[in-house]
Amino acid sequence: MSRESSPTPGSGREEDRSAVRHSLSLHLEGLRTWKVDRIFGEPVVIPRSPASAEEPSRRSLEARTTTAEPPRPSAVPPAPPIGPGENPPIDPAELLAAVAREAEACRRCRLGGERNRCVPGVGDPRAPLLFVGEAPGREEDRRGEPFVGAAGQLLDRIVGALGFRREEVFIANTLKCRPPNNRDPLPDEWGACSPFLERQVAALSPRMIVALGRAAARLLTGRDEPLGRLRGGKHAYHGIPVIVTYHPAYLLRESSAKRDCWQDLQPVVQEFGRPPLPQE
Ligand code: SF4
Repeated sequence: MSRESSPTPGSGREEDRSAVRHSLSLHLEGLRTWKVDRIFGEPVVIPRSPASAEEPSRRSLEARTTTAEPPRPSAVPPAPPIGPGENPPIDPAELLAAVAREAEACRRCRLGGERNRCVPGVGDPRAPLLFVGEAPGREEDRRGEPFVGAAGQLLDRIVGALGFRREEVFIANTLKCRPPNNRDPLPDEWGACSPFLERQVAALSPRMIVALGRAAARLLTGRDEPLGRLRGGKHAYHGIPVIVTYHPAYLLRESSAKRDCWQDLQPVVQEFGRPPLPQE
């Protein structure tokens, strides 16, 4: 009987399952490291692979690498033991990639069936600064990248004025899929999608978050108030300072608001020891 029709312990499929189980365990351990103990309202439970599921995979791997010669001593020293209560370090890039994969397959709200492309976010997985906007627009939906087009170019200028390049920060939205006709996000869409942003923040652990516009400000501060009341205030999201300012799309329409935007962002240059911002 073929492997495809009847997987047996030690077969390719069993190895794949074991690898997936191991990868999932690492991912969930990472979430718990950052105190994310619920996903979409469900508790995080770390699956434990039975020895019988892991052993064939290891044996098979050894067999593949030692068919012609006896095993040689490894030049790589074994990893130091992990003490009780400690978690192995998880690569933020892996966690962010897992979020992106899940968002791309997500249909938890109606927007999943209407998008062209999911827009999880872009940037340096170790970025110290995170920018969060509202939701993808038409061009973002077409290209799968947040903040492209005129608003994106203005955001790049803002990022540059803060002393960073676009690829040195991380840029995301509160929603990962475009609402039709750029309408405002609905509460149930935020409820379904916000765990993705929460996990991105946990993976990045940035020193500071900049909320661009009212939607991001509402979600990240937890306060349903006009933007004018939230700007200039002291806010935090899971203990990380949140700076509230205008969305670049608004600044394109109201250039007189740029001066206020630079004022809003002064705490960022202070936090990172950058030169003062221009007063446009
Ligand atoms: S907006 Fe978020 S919750 Fe809704 S389908 Fe897209 S990724 Fe899923």
